[in-house]
Amino acid sequence: MITMKFGGTSVGKTDAFAQVADIVAHAVATQSKTDRPGVVVITSAMSGVTNTLIDAAKAAAAGDEAPYREARSSLLVKHQLVAGQLIEDGVERAGLGRLFDDRLREFERLCRSISVLGELTARGLDVVSGMGERMSAPLLAGVLRAKGVHAQFVDAGELIITDDVHDGAEPLMDLTVARCRERLLPMIESGVVPVITGFVGSTRKGIPTTLGRGGSDYSAAIIGAALDTDEIQIWTDVNGVLTADPRVVSNARTLPELSYEEVAELAFYGAKVLHPKTTTPAMQKGIPVRVLNTFQPDHVGTRIVTADHTSGPRVAGVKAITAIRNMNMITVAGRGMMGVPGIAARTFGSVARQEANVLMISQSSSEQSICFVVPDAAAPAVVAALQAEFDRELERRYIDEIAEHPDIVIVAVVGSGMKGTPGIAAKLFTALGSHSINVIAIAQGASEANISLVVAEGDADQAVRSIHDAFELDQLFAGE
Ligand code: ASP
Ligand code: MG
Repeated sequence: MITMKFGGTSVGKTDAFAQVADIVAHAVATQSKTDRPGVVVITSAMSGVTNTLIDAAKAAAAGDEAPYREARSSLLVKHQLVAGQLIEDGVERAGLGRLFDDRLREFERLCRSISVLGELTARGLDVVSGMGERMSAPLLAGVLRAKGVHAQFVDAGELIITDDVHDGAEPLMDLTVARCRERLLPMIESGVVPVITGFVGSTRKGIPTTLGRGGSDYSAAIIGAALDTDEIQIWTDVNGVLTADPRVVSNARTLPELSYEEVAELAFYGAKVLHPKTTTPAMQKGIPVRVLNTFQPDHVGTRIVTADHTSGPRVAGVKAITAIRNMNMITVAGRGMMGVPGIAARTFGSVARQEANVLMISQSSSEQSICFVVPDAAAPAVVAALQAEFDRELERRYIDEIAEHPDIVIVAVVGSGMKGTPGIAAKLFTALGSHSINVIAIAQGASEANISLVVAEGDADQAVRSIHDAFELDQLFAGE
């Protein structure tokens, strides 16, 4: 039994839908010959749709009603076009047309009340932003039926039961597992392919939630784990996970195999390939995840498994490099901090109260400064909060300054083979030094699967390229 998730570009337009239908039909035929047949499909919204919905709702809250009116008609056309081109059956097409119309009418109604109230709540935004999947999934089910696959649309609001943290809800796993099994297993056993909305869920009371932007990958992992499928396939528009961003490093390569730990590090540090939470449910159940390319379905892509199972070439060292941009490094420095307990706790306590995400922390042993990195957008609030927190210490000069350093980039070098391999750091810094790249701060995780460096924005691309070259990552899997 397999779970197949298709991202926004995989259902971006008519050709892509047709391609997905071929891929699913092929998988169904292949699976039917196995001991445990079954295919479960999860889809994102058509590419761009979630952004359109969110932008329109935000504009409505600001009193601008034109965007949602335009979105209603453009989204209707966008979905109907695909149905018109791929579905011949008039009854099926008319049914879908009514469904799109109903959804978009509801969208318009919601946006109108948002505009009247002049306020967009997190709860309201989740209702609006989940509507893209609530159109793309029934559409994909229809396209699959037109292709002869016994597909049936299922709304994940019935399956993924979450807490009430909007735009980042967490599944209540016991309930979710029960719901998935109850609802989906009988369908699968009778040869039906459930086509499920990614990204969305609902609370115990039935209030719509979303798992956060890009959350459809996570949906696939949750559902795949709940059903104990043999594999979770993430179909995207690139050939799996690469050694680096190919727009920066022209000779970047596909990594045939990665551990859950490595891919989690890469996702955390901005590699756009998987939602960072995706690996957790898969890892707990030991289910392999494969990242595949809808537009090049024969490419083997990347297999993500537990480290112990990695059967690829033994790689001593670095596997991939990623860069996370638009970051800001905050420093809290002062000679009076030495040996004063509680500075770090108070620092991160006030950062947490701003709900800022800390991506990296480093403190030198002299204890004279703490530095950490947050997204640029969060920096002003964080600095203001720290200045208030350390008001007295600043006055007494225990702390000399709280400063921000905008326009910096975290370069994360990832590979669990770095563990216990001496000389990695030396090679890394030699590579950077020989290109005169100034390293502003360094941190290494205790897992040793990652070394992160802070460099200036202008140095980031060169830093990634020099490290890629120094470790000859283009040669790593040359034989494959
Ligand atoms: N459609 C949602 C988004 O754009 C979820 C996803 O694509 O994974 O964030
Ligand atoms: Mg997506």
